[in-house]
Amino acid sequence: MSSSVIDFLAAEARFGAHNYEPVGVVLSRGEGVWVWDTEGNRYLDCLSAYSAVSQGHCHPKILAAMVEQAHRLTLTSRAFHNDQLAPFYEEIAALTGSHKVLPMNSGAEAVESAIKSVRKWGYEVKGVPDGKAEIVVCANNFHGRTLGVVGFSTDPETRTHFGPFAPGFKIIPFGDAAALEDAIAPNTVAFLVEPIQGEAGVIIPPAGYFTKVRELCTANNVMLVLDEIQTGLGRTGKLLAEQHEGIEADVTLLGKALSGGFYPVSAVLSNNEVLGTLRPGQHGSTFGGNPLACAVARAAMRVLVEEGMIENAARQGARFLEGLKDIRANTIREVRGRGLMLAVELHPEAGRARRYCEALQGKGILAKDTHEHTIRIAPPLVITSDQVEWALERFATTLTQDLS
Ligand SMILES: *Cc1c(COP(=O)(O)O)cnc(C)c1O
Repeated sequence: MSSSVIDFLAAEARFGAHNYEPVGVVLSRGEGVWVWDTEGNRYLDCLSAYSAVSQGHCHPKILAAMVEQAHRLTLTSRAFHNDQLAPFYEEIAALTGSHKVLPMNSGAEAVESAIKSVRKWGYEVKGVPDGKAEIVVCANNFHGRTLGVVGFSTDPETRTHFGPFAPGFKIIPFGDAAALEDAIAPNTVAFLVEPIQGEAGVIIPPAGYFTKVRELCTANNVMLVLDEIQTGLGRTGKLLAEQHEGIEADVTLLGKALSGGFYPVSAVLSNNEVLGTLRPGQHGSTFGGNPLACAVARAAMRVLVEEGMIENAARQGARFLEGLKDIRANTIREVRGRGLMLAVELHPEAGRARRYCEALQGKGILAKDTHEHTIRIAPPLVITSDQVEWALERFATTLTQDLS
């Protein structure tokens, strides 16, 4: 490491809250699937900022939309209308087939907004007694870091010493439809779930799970809230991961790639009933729905479709998964994935996944470990066949090493 890199790390350590443990690389530039560090080394980004830069780093069309809008108007607050909000609503509703849209900023804010909305729906439409609404969630969920959300996390690291937490959540195992059936009670207003659990290590539920979940929610008048903040917008090879089982959520949460990584933009999408319960003054955000965010999101959605990124994610993801499965290495316990949301789980004896990520870094690939033994792989959706083969060669040589 050069002295300048050490200076960056030292300054971060001195002044920053130590709530992250980043890999020791200082990035200064990105283009498409590639990023460069301050020394000029190039890496294939196999994390994509947890799927926020699905459209590739610094996509020129999103950049142009952002710069153009930044020259014209950036923020009005929702006290006034702006000329980007209506087209953003129309375009996101047309893309996703939803009826109503609530624009927010971070993913966690979208989750919080959905929780507020389904509770209000529960009291005002379903007729649940005030203060009694229950929401069912899954073990090992990840829905963000705000207080409301970490209150129903099952990860001790996420929760410890942040309480007291809000009541009203029931936790069941992921992928178990019978557990949902048992958990639903008269006061249940919603089931909040990720189509694929991302932070938990790319956990894919059994086939047919969401078909059954949809049936149970419909039969019991429970709103199905799908957190597609990570799985949505093409990551799994479909626009929304719900399409893999041909179901439709009542409420869908988007974030991350909704801005192509330029700016925090999230959205709650719903049928008319749920978001229809919100009246003026009952919910809001200074930056939510601002013209800069709307212009960026419109461009981010447009390039996703126009440049065939969703189809490319399906095609390249299938090859990436097949290539990873072909690697014969004693270190590998399981390879999982759908579209370009992939993971390699190592045998515990193979050592920590972080060691393999550091070895990959030495070969020009940035990937991220999760939960000690899993390497997650999620390159931008613009990755080409040649780049997939290039990456697979490096994964093969790294995973056949013993780094325990
Ligand atoms: C990243 C993520 C969030 C939180 O998004 P932030 O923008 O970090 O608040 C919520 N849910 C899922 C599934 C995520 O992957």
